[in-house]
Formats: sequence, C-alpha cells, structure tokens
Amino acid sequence: MTIAIYPGSFDPVHYGHIDIAKRAAKIFDTLIWAAYDRPMKNLMFSTAERIAFMREAANDTPNIRVMPYHGLTVEFARSQGATVMVRGLRITYDFEMEYQTALTNRQLAEDIDTICLMTSLKYAFVSSSILKEVAFLDGPISEIVPPYVELALKKRLAQLGEDQGEKVKLVSLRE
Ligand code: ADP
Repeated sequence: MTIAIYPGSFDPVHYGHIDIAKRAAKIFDTLIWAAYDRPMKNLMFSTAERIAFMREAANDTPNIRVMPYHGLTVEFARSQGATVMVRGLRITYDFEMEYQTALTNRQLAEDIDTICLMTSLKYAFVSSSILKEVAFLDGPISEIVPPYVELALKKRLAQLGEDQGEKVKLVSLRE
C-alpha cells in the first residue's frame, strides 16, 4: 500500500495540476493532494477556496484525498504515512527547481522519495501565474481551468477591482 503526496500552492488549481494528480492516482494506492497554506508568494485564494476547487476536481477519483497542510512538506508527508512525493515538470526551469527541492527534501527525510511526472504536452505552457495574467486581461481561460475555477477567478478579479479602486491587487495571506 503506497501513499504518495502531491504538494503545492494550487492558487488556483488548473488542468495541468489536475492531469498530474489523476495520473499519479493511477500509479499509487492513495494520493494525498495537499495545498500548502502559506507559500512564500502572494495568494489570490484562501486555503479553504483552493481546497474546495481541488476537491471538486478530484470528486470522480476516489483514491485522491485533498488536504491542507502547513509547515515542512516532508513532516506532513510522514504524518500521513506517505513515502513518495509527486511533482510535475513542465519545462527546463521546472527541472532546476524540482531538482533542488527534491535534494533538500531528501536531506530532510531520507525515507521519502520524489517522483516527477512530465506534463502532458497540451498543458506544458500552463501555470497559475500565467492563468491569472490572462484572466486579468479578460483573455479566454476555459481551456486552462474547470468552469468553477473560471467563475471564481472572474468574481475575485471583479471584487478586487471594486475594493481597491483599481482592477486587481493580489492578496497576501502572509501579511
Ligand atoms: P508550487 O508548488 O511551486 O507553489 P504549483 O502549486 O503551481 O507550484 O504547482 C504544484 C506542482 O504542480 C509543481 O510540481 C509544478 O511543477 C506542477 N505543475 C504546475 N503546472 C503544471 C503543468 N502545467 N503541468 C504539469 N505540472 C505542473
């Protein structure tokens, strides 16, 4: 029985993430799809919102468990009995980052190994930041995110525009 964890910010989740989660769920007995509550970057959606989108995306895949976490990813993985960490690779600079993160995690926890899945070609260009930028510019995003994420993104951008007197200001949950 192998439990794997797929950690990240998922702010918000998009089809590139969902593709990796579902493919990983076919490989491992249980996949814990975990949203980090306070990443070192500004967030557009709260942990509860990010988790709700991920749950919706995973509701047809019974061996995916969506959970929030805080603190060290390896500690959370251990607390859940996970021995594998799944990450997705898009382009070459992802490799540099993931390599560094995997070596750091291995230093922290020799009992947990990292496995990287290559992105599906059609999602190779998709990232949460590009997605937010396209949405901000009123570009089409229905090929990149599920309808409930598209709706929430549009609502959030409109809200932020009204609240701030400008079109958008990303919310930092670290502040
Ligand atoms: P981070 O964990 O760095 O905050 P994300 O939450 O955006 O980044 O992504 C979580 C994981 O999903 C990372 O391993 C990232 O490389 C991977 N990922 C992001 N976008 C894609 C994509 N389009 N295709 C495959 N994997 C992706």
